[in-house]
Amino acid sequence: MTDLTTLLSKTTHSHQELVQLLSVTSTEDTAQILDAALQKKASTLGRKVYLRGLIELTNHCSKNCYYCGIRAANKNVTRYTLTDEEVLDCADFAWKQGFGSLVIQSGELSGTAFTAQIEGLLHKIHQHTKNELTITLSCGEQSLDTYKRWFKAGAERYLLRIETTNKALYQQIHPHDTHHTWESRIEALQNLRLAGYQVGTGVMIGLPGQSISDLAGDIGFFRSMDVDMVGMGPYIEHADTPMFEKAQLLWPASERFRMALLMIAVLRLNMPWINMAASTALETLDPLGRQKGILAGANVVMPNLTPVTNRKNYQLYNNKPNLDKDAALSTISLQKVLDAIGETICFNEAGNSQHFSRRQQQE
Ligand code: SF4
Repeated sequence: MTDLTTLLSKTTHSHQELVQLLSVTSTEDTAQILDAALQKKASTLGRKVYLRGLIELTNHCSKNCYYCGIRAANKNVTRYTLTDEEVLDCADFAWKQGFGSLVIQSGELSGTAFTAQIEGLLHKIHQHTKNELTITLSCGEQSLDTYKRWFKAGAERYLLRIETTNKALYQQIHPHDTHHTWESRIEALQNLRLAGYQVGTGVMIGLPGQSISDLAGDIGFFRSMDVDMVGMGPYIEHADTPMFEKAQLLWPASERFRMALLMIAVLRLNMPWINMAASTALETLDPLGRQKGILAGANVVMPNLTPVTNRKNYQLYNNKPNLDKDAALSTISLQKVLDAIGETICFNEAGNSQHFSRRQQQE
């Protein structure tokens, strides 16, 4: 077995080495890995953090993922869709605060009306903000034609989390029907690349039945797919979902949190130029979760701009934080928190994935 210092000096790790890194248990070894990742980030991307204002457009969803609080079959959710005016208000706030970038997220819907709604919103936001905001979409699996249409309308990045790259585990956390196949998710990720997007994906960490080898495989998958962005965080159960029955099989929350930080750090060591978000789920398990994610190698934070009245209805998992926080106040406190740990928020910058730009230069 290679010693930790030697492992951390490598720029890429084999599956076995990834397993070894993710298997450390002591506080000292964990801290050594997180510190190496922070140094890697500092020497490549700098101690910089980019903001993406998150707009949760609608909690309607046609799918029934077993882990998700807004799954179609959950009758305990009050469904909503923001009006175009509400979305434009959020975009206006992000623009005037100098966020540089927006994420529009929704449940997975398909059909011509939804495609046209997103397309229309993209045009309206760009017109209103003088094309000064870069827009990321996170609206699920769509056809290549739809992805192309939204790209043409001004979306430049797309997030589509695979949640786990282990096919057998994927099948355990999704219904067994034609709408929830692992193959279609892979195809969608490939189509996003074809359509021209900066492509983002991600996984949940600490799913019932998930092994360290599965997590090492996730990192291998990100590398083999050459993704540009990753958003991953601890799995947090939701009481109104089928997977809640397996809650007794979960690692303790503190261990899911530690493993999520380790995953961020080990991925940063292996993919130094990608954008990586410090997820909201980290903050659910630890009040300092967001800054700890940044100190483990993440470089993106996504303040929630969804109107406060709708936020409580967009809970993919229980105890989501900041459900009632005013977006302006959250931005001020975020700036203070990041200043205190030596990170600088890059206002008025798109913060594109440098991994993406470097690949384009090589092509
Ligand atoms: S994870 Fe996404 S696609 Fe699955 S039920 Fe939730 S919102 Fe819908």
